[in-house]
Amino acid sequence: MERREQLYEGKSKIIYSTDDPDLVIQYFKDDASAFNGVKKGTIVDKGGINNAVSSKMFQYLESLGAKTHFVRQLNDREMLVKRLDIIPVEVVVRNVAAGSICKRLGLEEGLSLPKPILEFFYKNDPLGDPMINECHIDVFNWATADEVVQLKERGLKINQLLFDFYKKRNIRLIDFKLEFGRHKGEVLLGDEISPDGCRLWNWDTNEKMDKDRFRFNLGSVEEKYQEVYHLVCKE
Ligand code: UDP
Repeated sequence: MERREQLYEGKSKIIYSTDDPDLVIQYFKDDASAFNGVKKGTIVDKGGINNAVSSKMFQYLESLGAKTHFVRQLNDREMLVKRLDIIPVEVVVRNVAAGSICKRLGLEEGLSLPKPILEFFYKNDPLGDPMINECHIDVFNWATADEVVQLKERGLKINQLLFDFYKKRNIRLIDFKLEFGRHKGEVLLGDEISPDGCRLWNWDTNEKMDKDRFRFNLGSVEEKYQEVYHLVCKE
């Protein structure tokens, strides 16, 4: 499958059309950004790692019945996916307090949550992805009531599946962000599932193995992305 024209360029991926109007190519860049684009940089080989890790995760989720946009990995940097009409709602699921929830609720980072917390954010860069609830989604028609039920059920189910997957690799899944979209009447999981959009900590030492290393200048960014890649794709 060859790529045609560029449809969209985001902070870490480029989307290209193909000969098939139902399929697009996601190209993974090495560019990294944080704090809504304020901090910018490059993580060497991040594109290849995120493509491989996401491909593996999508295949794993599909094998357990979760419907995703994944078709196949094309090469080091490119993934063939079903074209989605993206629902502008980011679904975040948390198992342990970290990041924005700590600031918002005054929680200590690392607090283990007795059950997962699911949150919605409005996917809007100029506004910095503000937190929203189901009333906002309903009033502004970002998703139907049935779709909201699916976002919640599927977000929590995917959390269980990913948590188990990472636990087997001695990694604790702290939190992650999902995006969904519509394709031929179905809601499919889209975007990527990589250390860019998940918090992953070493199960024993709590060492961070995700984009927080880049966000907070913790060093060894490439090494930790490589470690996740090996644990996810090479075992
Ligand atoms: N996240 C993401 N993209 C965003 C916002 C958050 O991938 O635009 C991920 C982030 O990497 C973390 C989870 O969603 O794994 C929860 O992020 P949080 O709300 O704590 O925000 P942050 O601290 O990253 O600003």
